[in-house]
Amino acid sequence: MGGCHSYPSAAKVDTKTPQPSDIHNEKLGINNNNQEEPPYLQQQNACQRITNADMLSLTSLPPGMDRAEWLASNTVAFFKHINLFSSALSDFCTPSTCPTSCGPGNTIYFWTDDHGRKLKCSAPLYVDYAMSYIQDLLTDEDVFPTKAGVAFPTGFFFLVQKVFLLLFRTLAHIYWSHYSEVLLVGLHPHLNTLFSHLLLFCRQHSLLEPEDTKPLQDLITALERHG
Ligand SMILES: [Zn+2]
Repeated sequence: MGGCHSYPSAAKVDTKTPQPSDIHNEKLGINNNNQEEPPYLQQQNACQRITNADMLSLTSLPPGMDRAEWLASNTVAFFKHINLFSSALSDFCTPSTCPTSCGPGNTIYFWTDDHGRKLKCSAPLYVDYAMSYIQDLLTDEDVFPTKAGVAFPTGFFFLVQKVFLLLFRTLAHIYWSHYSEVLLVGLHPHLNTLFSHLLLFCRQHSLLEPEDTKPLQDLITALERHG
């Protein structure tokens, strides 16, 4: 696998990692829905990117490349970037700041366990479940084969869709509940770039349903307008 785009990682940003005590902001960890306009929609924030690379060419299936192979290599890359980004903010996403895993409009994200039961859990627990689930999938040779000539399994596309939904929700929670911290450490250009790249990739390869992205439609529109 290989050939997918990479950009500077969140860990390499030359900025001080704030401690919870550094932030004297009563909105810490609280969603933005009491504000007239969420800060992530404001032009001076929505226009920020870390690259002017042509995202369309980065997400399109390269000529001659197997589609499943392209999906697999990008799934690995997006997981690494989003796991890293989420880890960089983990001090601020705790069971007390985020007792419920939520996204825009206070959409609640339930975790579905192995028995199909829906669990209501804290945001850090949801993210932990999600990242562990994806990590297990990516290291399962029966799902993501790494040896030449080994076919991808039936249902591979469905599993990739599920991974991208979890990655999307991870970023949605960050926009909704942790944008003040993202601004504070100056990671909003990274977040906008990562989210825009993910959305375009998902759109090109039909990985997310409209109902999944609808709660963040105002952000998607703002990023397209100012991108
Ligand atoms: Zn949180």
